[in-house]
Amino acid sequence: MIIDCHGHYTTAPAEMEAWRKLQVQAIGHPGQAPSKASLRISDDQIRESLEGAQLKLQRGRGTDLTLFSPRASAMAHHVGDAETSRVWSELCNELVHRCCALYPDNFVGVCQLPQSPGVPPQTCVAELERCVKELGFVGCNLNPDPSGGYWKDAPLGDRWWYPLYEKLVELDVPAMVHVSTSCNPAFHTTGAHYLNADTTAFMQCLTSKLFQDFPTLKFVIPHGGGAVPYHWGRFRGLAQDLKLPPLKELLLDNVFFDTCVYHRPGIELLLKVVPVDNVLFASEMVGAVRGIDPETGHHYDDTRRYVDAIDLSESDRQKVFEGNARKVYARLRR
Ligand SMILES: [Zn+2]
Repeated sequence: MIIDCHGHYTTAPAEMEAWRKLQVQAIGHPGQAPSKASLRISDDQIRESLEGAQLKLQRGRGTDLTLFSPRASAMAHHVGDAETSRVWSELCNELVHRCCALYPDNFVGVCQLPQSPGVPPQTCVAELERCVKELGFVGCNLNPDPSGGYWKDAPLGDRWWYPLYEKLVELDVPAMVHVSTSCNPAFHTTGAHYLNADTTAFMQCLTSKLFQDFPTLKFVIPHGGGAVPYHWGRFRGLAQDLKLPPLKELLLDNVFFDTCVYHRPGIELLLKVVPVDNVLFASEMVGAVRGIDPETGHHYDDTRRYVDAIDLSESDRQKVFEGNARKVYARLRR
Protein backbone atom coordinates (compact mmCIF):
# COMPACT_ATOMS: atom_id res chain seq x y z
CA MET A 1 0.00 0.00 0.00
CA ILE A 2 1.17 3.50 -0.80
CA ILE A 3 0.08 6.34 1.46
CA ASP A 4 0.56 9.89 0.18
CA CYS A 5 0.69 11.96 3.36
CA HIS A 6 0.40 15.36 1.68
CA GLY A 7 -2.49 16.33 -0.59
CA HIS A 8 -4.78 19.35 -0.66
CA TYR A 9 -8.24 19.83 -2.12
CA THR A 10 -6.95 22.26 -4.72
CA THR A 11 -9.69 21.42 -7.18
CA ALA A 12 -12.71 22.32 -5.05
CA PRO A 13 -15.73 23.59 -7.03
CA ALA A 14 -15.71 27.32 -7.83
CA GLU A 15 -18.61 27.89 -5.40
CA MET A 16 -16.08 27.57 -2.59
CA GLU A 17 -14.00 30.49 -3.78
CA ALA A 18 -17.12 32.54 -4.49
CA TRP A 19 -18.31 31.95 -0.91
CA ARG A 20 -14.94 33.02 0.43
CA LYS A 21 -15.06 36.18 -1.65
CA LEU A 22 -18.39 37.11 -0.06
CA GLN A 23 -16.97 36.37 3.37
CA VAL A 24 -13.95 38.61 2.75
CA GLN A 25 -16.14 41.39 1.35
CA ALA A 26 -18.21 41.29 4.53
CA ILE A 27 -15.22 41.83 6.83
CA GLY A 28 -16.11 44.81 8.98
CA HIS A 29 -19.83 44.33 8.22
CA PRO A 30 -20.70 41.27 10.33
CA GLY A 31 -24.37 41.29 9.33
CA GLN A 32 -23.44 40.72 5.69
CA ALA A 33 -21.26 37.64 6.17
CA PRO A 34 -22.57 34.60 4.27
CA SER A 35 -23.80 31.67 6.35
CA LYS A 36 -22.11 28.27 6.04
CA ALA A 37 -25.45 26.88 4.89
CA SER A 38 -25.47 29.21 1.90
CA LEU A 39 -22.64 27.21 0.29
CA ARG A 40 -24.27 24.77 -2.13
CA ILE A 41 -22.05 22.08 -3.60
CA SER A 42 -23.53 18.75 -4.67
CA ASP A 43 -21.93 15.32 -4.24
CA ASP A 44 -21.73 15.09 -8.02
CA GLN A 45 -19.74 18.30 -8.17
CA ILE A 46 -17.33 16.91 -5.60
CA ARG A 47 -17.00 13.64 -7.53
CA GLU A 48 -16.37 15.55 -10.72
CA SER A 49 -13.72 17.74 -9.08
CA LEU A 50 -11.80 14.68 -7.87
CA GLU A 51 -12.33 12.09 -10.60
CA GLY A 52 -10.43 14.00 -13.26
CA ALA A 53 -7.68 15.11 -10.91
CA GLN A 54 -6.52 13.51 -7.64
CA LEU A 55 -8.31 10.20 -8.22
CA LYS A 56 -7.11 9.92 -11.80
CA LEU A 57 -3.54 10.55 -10.67
CA GLN A 58 -3.80 8.11 -7.77
CA ARG A 59 -4.93 5.40 -10.15
CA GLY A 60 -2.42 6.29 -12.85
CA ARG A 61 0.51 6.42 -10.47
CA GLY A 62 -0.52 3.43 -8.39
CA THR A 63 -0.82 5.17 -5.06
CA ASP A 64 -3.63 4.21 -2.72
CA LEU A 65 -4.53 6.65 0.02
CA THR A 66 -4.03 10.40 0.24
CA LEU A 67 -4.07 12.31 3.52
CA PHE A 68 -6.22 15.14 2.32
CA SER A 69 -6.51 18.67 3.67
CA PRO A 70 -7.98 21.99 2.53
CA ARG A 71 -5.97 24.02 0.01
CA ALA A 72 -3.03 25.38 1.98
CA SER A 73 -2.59 28.69 0.17
CA ALA A 74 -6.30 29.43 0.70
CA MET A 75 -6.11 29.04 4.49
CA ALA A 76 -5.00 32.71 4.46
CA HIS A 77 -5.05 33.07 8.21
CA HIS A 78 -4.04 36.71 7.90
CA VAL A 79 -7.43 37.63 6.39
CA GLY A 80 -10.04 39.07 8.78
CA ASP A 81 -10.03 38.01 12.41
CA ALA A 82 -10.32 34.82 14.45
CA GLU A 83 -14.05 34.58 13.70
CA THR A 84 -13.40 34.87 9.93
CA SER A 85 -10.85 32.10 10.26
CA ARG A 86 -13.09 29.92 12.41
CA VAL A 87 -15.97 29.90 9.96
CA TRP A 88 -13.72 29.49 6.90
CA SER A 89 -11.78 26.64 8.50
CA GLU A 90 -14.95 24.81 9.51
CA LEU A 91 -16.31 25.12 6.00
CA CYS A 92 -13.07 23.92 4.38
CA ASN A 93 -12.79 21.00 6.79
CA GLU A 94 -16.40 19.98 6.21
CA LEU A 95 -15.85 19.95 2.46
CA VAL A 96 -12.77 17.75 2.84
CA HIS A 97 -14.81 15.50 5.09
CA ARG A 98 -17.36 15.09 2.30
CA CYS A 99 -14.56 14.04 -0.09
CA CYS A 100 -13.41 11.45 2.46
CA ALA A 101 -16.95 10.18 2.99
CA LEU A 102 -17.52 9.79 -0.76
CA TYR A 103 -14.16 8.03 -1.26
CA PRO A 104 -13.26 6.43 2.07
CA ASP A 105 -10.67 4.14 0.46
CA ASN A 106 -8.88 7.03 -1.25
CA PHE A 107 -8.87 9.93 1.21
CA VAL A 108 -8.44 10.47 4.93
CA GLY A 109 -8.86 13.97 6.32
CA VAL A 110 -6.27 16.33 7.75
CA CYS A 111 -7.67 19.60 9.06
CA GLN A 112 -7.02 23.28 8.66
CA LEU A 113 -6.78 25.14 11.96
CA PRO A 114 -8.67 28.40 12.54
CA GLN A 115 -5.52 30.35 13.34
CA SER A 116 -5.30 34.13 13.28
CA PRO A 117 -2.26 36.38 13.79
CA GLY A 118 -1.78 37.41 17.41
CA VAL A 119 -4.62 35.16 18.62
CA PRO A 120 -3.63 32.43 21.10
CA PRO A 121 -3.55 28.99 19.41
CA GLN A 122 -5.79 27.70 22.18
CA THR A 123 -8.67 28.97 20.04
CA CYS A 124 -7.89 26.16 17.54
CA VAL A 125 -8.42 23.36 20.02
CA ALA A 126 -12.18 23.00 19.55
CA GLU A 127 -11.98 22.66 15.75
CA LEU A 128 -9.07 20.23 16.00
CA GLU A 129 -11.01 18.10 18.42
CA ARG A 130 -14.16 18.19 16.29
CA CYS A 131 -12.24 17.16 13.18
CA VAL A 132 -10.48 14.28 14.89
CA LYS A 133 -13.28 12.97 17.07
CA GLU A 134 -16.33 13.67 14.91
CA LEU A 135 -14.99 13.74 11.34
CA GLY A 136 -12.31 11.05 11.73
CA PHE A 137 -9.38 13.23 10.68
CA VAL A 138 -5.87 11.98 11.49
CA GLY A 139 -3.79 15.17 11.63
CA CYS A 140 -3.73 18.91 11.11
CA ASN A 141 -1.83 21.56 9.21
CA LEU A 142 -0.21 23.96 11.64
CA ASN A 143 0.73 27.35 10.25
CA PRO A 144 3.89 28.64 12.00
CA ASP A 145 3.28 32.10 10.51
CA PRO A 146 -0.41 33.09 10.42
CA SER A 147 0.64 36.61 9.36
CA GLY A 148 1.52 35.28 5.90
CA GLY A 149 5.20 36.07 5.49
CA TYR A 150 5.86 38.58 8.28
CA TRP A 151 6.47 36.11 11.15
CA LYS A 152 4.68 38.17 13.78
CA ASP A 153 3.83 35.37 16.20
CA ALA A 154 6.05 33.50 18.64
CA PRO A 155 8.33 30.72 17.31
CA LEU A 156 7.03 27.16 17.52
CA GLY A 157 9.09 26.39 20.63
CA ASP A 158 7.37 29.14 22.63
CA ARG A 159 4.84 28.29 25.33
CA TRP A 160 2.35 30.39 23.32
CA TRP A 161 1.70 27.24 21.31
CA TYR A 162 1.58 24.78 24.19
CA PRO A 163 -2.21 24.52 24.66
CA LEU A 164 -2.48 23.35 21.06
CA TYR A 165 0.38 20.86 21.49
CA GLU A 166 -1.30 19.47 24.61
CA LYS A 167 -4.37 18.68 22.53
CA LEU A 168 -2.33 17.19 19.66
CA VAL A 169 -0.64 14.86 22.15
CA GLU A 170 -3.90 13.98 23.86
CA LEU A 171 -5.56 13.15 20.54
CA ASP A 172 -2.40 11.41 19.26
CA VAL A 173 -2.34 13.32 15.97
CA PRO A 174 0.68 14.93 14.28
CA ALA A 175 0.88 18.40 12.79
CA MET A 176 2.25 19.08 9.35
CA VAL A 177 3.98 22.44 9.68
CA HIS A 178 2.52 24.24 6.68
CA VAL A 179 2.30 27.94 5.95
CA SER A 180 -0.31 29.55 3.74
CA THR A 181 -0.14 32.21 1.10
CA SER A 182 2.54 34.90 1.38
CA CYS A 183 1.34 38.48 1.52
CA ASN A 184 4.92 39.68 1.73
CA PRO A 185 5.93 40.55 -1.84
CA ALA A 186 9.51 39.51 -1.07
CA PHE A 187 8.45 35.86 -0.75
CA HIS A 188 6.82 33.91 -3.54
CA THR A 189 4.27 31.64 -1.85
CA THR A 190 5.27 28.18 -3.06
CA GLY A 191 8.75 28.98 -4.36
CA ALA A 192 10.10 30.79 -1.30
CA HIS A 193 7.69 31.18 1.64
CA TYR A 194 6.88 27.47 1.88
CA LEU A 195 10.51 26.38 1.77
CA ASN A 196 11.66 29.18 4.08
CA ALA A 197 9.03 28.14 6.58
CA ASP A 198 10.05 24.48 6.47
CA THR A 199 13.65 25.42 7.20
CA THR A 200 12.64 27.97 9.84
CA ALA A 201 10.37 25.51 11.64
CA PHE A 202 13.19 22.97 11.88
CA MET A 203 15.55 25.52 13.40
CA GLN A 204 12.84 26.67 15.83
CA CYS A 205 12.51 23.07 16.98
CA LEU A 206 16.28 22.72 17.28
CA THR A 207 16.65 25.74 19.56
CA SER A 208 13.67 24.93 21.80
CA LYS A 209 12.78 22.51 24.58
CA LEU A 210 9.65 21.58 22.71
CA PHE A 211 10.22 17.85 22.46
CA GLN A 212 11.55 17.59 26.00
CA ASP A 213 8.23 19.04 27.11
CA PHE A 214 6.21 16.98 24.60
CA PRO A 215 8.16 13.77 23.96
CA THR A 216 5.37 12.23 21.87
CA LEU A 217 4.50 15.29 19.77
CA LYS A 218 5.14 14.74 16.07
CA PHE A 219 5.75 17.30 13.33
CA VAL A 220 5.93 16.53 9.64
CA ILE A 221 8.00 19.13 7.83
CA PRO A 222 6.83 19.09 4.22
CA HIS A 223 8.52 19.81 0.90
CA GLY A 224 11.42 17.56 1.82
CA GLY A 225 12.22 19.71 4.86
CA GLY A 226 13.03 22.85 2.85
CA ALA A 227 16.77 23.44 3.01
CA VAL A 228 17.29 21.13 5.98
CA PRO A 229 18.61 17.92 4.39
CA TYR A 230 20.90 19.82 2.04
CA HIS A 231 22.43 21.69 4.99
CA TRP A 232 22.32 18.82 7.47
CA GLY A 233 25.95 19.40 8.47
CA ARG A 234 25.22 23.02 9.33
CA PHE A 235 22.35 22.02 11.60
CA ARG A 236 24.42 19.28 13.27
CA GLY A 237 27.22 21.77 13.82
CA LEU A 238 24.90 24.41 15.20
CA ALA A 239 23.42 21.90 17.65
CA GLN A 240 26.93 20.89 18.70
CA ASP A 241 27.99 24.51 19.26
CA LEU A 242 24.90 25.00 21.40
CA LYS A 243 26.02 21.99 23.51
CA LEU A 244 22.87 20.15 22.49
CA PRO A 245 22.64 16.39 22.00
CA PRO A 246 23.26 15.05 18.47
CA LEU A 247 20.50 16.03 16.08
CA LYS A 248 19.31 12.46 15.81
CA GLU A 249 18.65 12.24 19.55
CA LEU A 250 17.41 15.80 19.76
CA LEU A 251 14.77 15.82 17.04
CA LEU A 252 14.34 12.65 15.08
CA ASP A 253 11.86 10.94 17.38
CA ASN A 254 9.57 13.85 16.68
CA VAL A 255 10.38 15.46 13.33
CA PHE A 256 9.65 13.82 9.98
CA PHE A 257 10.06 14.90 6.37
CA ASP A 258 7.99 14.19 3.29
CA THR A 259 9.15 13.45 -0.25
CA CYS A 260 7.67 16.52 -1.97
CA VAL A 261 10.95 17.23 -3.71
CA TYR A 262 10.36 17.29 -7.41
CA HIS A 263 13.43 15.61 -8.81
CA ARG A 264 15.24 12.36 -8.19
CA PRO A 265 18.58 13.78 -6.93
CA GLY A 266 16.67 15.72 -4.25
CA ILE A 267 14.94 12.59 -2.98
CA GLU A 268 18.19 10.64 -3.14
CA LEU A 269 19.86 13.25 -0.98
CA LEU A 270 16.96 13.30 1.46
CA LEU A 271 17.11 9.53 1.91
CA LYS A 272 20.88 9.54 2.17
CA VAL A 273 20.98 12.22 4.86
CA VAL A 274 17.85 11.65 6.92
CA PRO A 275 17.19 8.22 8.46
CA VAL A 276 14.72 6.24 6.39
CA ASP A 277 12.44 6.02 9.46
CA ASN A 278 11.90 9.79 9.21
CA VAL A 279 10.82 10.02 5.57
CA LEU A 280 7.16 9.78 4.53
CA PHE A 281 6.04 9.42 0.95
CA ALA A 282 4.10 12.41 -0.40
CA SER A 283 3.45 14.15 -3.70
CA GLU A 284 1.30 17.21 -2.90
CA MET A 285 -0.48 16.55 -6.14
CA VAL A 286 -2.40 18.56 -7.66
CA GLY A 287 -0.39 21.39 -6.18
CA ALA A 288 2.27 23.97 -6.71
CA VAL A 289 4.01 22.34 -9.66
CA ARG A 290 1.63 20.79 -12.16
CA GLY A 291 3.74 20.62 -15.30
CA ILE A 292 5.64 17.86 -17.03
CA ASP A 293 9.41 17.73 -16.76
CA PRO A 294 10.75 17.72 -20.34
CA GLU A 295 13.85 15.90 -19.12
CA THR A 296 11.86 12.88 -17.92
CA GLY A 297 8.55 13.20 -19.75
CA HIS A 298 6.70 12.80 -16.45
CA HIS A 299 4.99 15.18 -14.04
CA TYR A 300 7.38 16.82 -11.60
CA ASP A 301 5.04 15.85 -8.76
CA ASP A 302 4.97 12.17 -9.71
CA THR A 303 7.26 11.50 -6.76
CA ARG A 304 6.57 7.78 -6.70
CA ARG A 305 8.88 7.42 -9.72
CA TYR A 306 11.79 8.92 -7.83
CA VAL A 307 11.32 6.68 -4.80
CA ASP A 308 10.89 3.64 -7.06
CA ALA A 309 14.10 4.46 -8.89
CA ILE A 310 16.23 4.74 -5.75
CA ASP A 311 18.18 1.77 -4.49
CA LEU A 312 16.38 0.91 -1.24
CA SER A 313 15.79 -2.41 0.47
CA GLU A 314 12.20 -3.61 0.19
CA SER A 315 11.64 -3.08 3.90
CA ASP A 316 12.97 0.48 3.71
CA ARG A 317 10.78 1.22 0.70
CA GLN A 318 7.78 -0.11 2.59
CA LYS A 319 8.61 2.24 5.47
CA VAL A 320 8.69 5.25 3.15
CA PHE A 321 5.54 4.28 1.28
CA GLU A 322 3.44 3.09 4.19
CA GLY A 323 5.01 2.11 7.48
CA ASN A 324 6.27 5.52 8.56
CA ALA A 325 2.93 7.16 7.76
CA ARG A 326 1.15 4.60 9.93
CA LYS A 327 3.62 5.28 12.72
CA VAL A 328 3.32 9.07 12.56
CA TYR A 329 -0.42 9.26 11.82
CA ALA A 330 -1.29 6.82 14.59
CA ARG A 331 -5.03 7.21 14.05
CA LEU A 332 -4.70 5.68 10.58
CA ARG A 333 -4.39 2.34 12.33
CA ARG A 334 -7.83 2.65 13.88
ZN1 LIG B 1 1.04 21.42 0.93
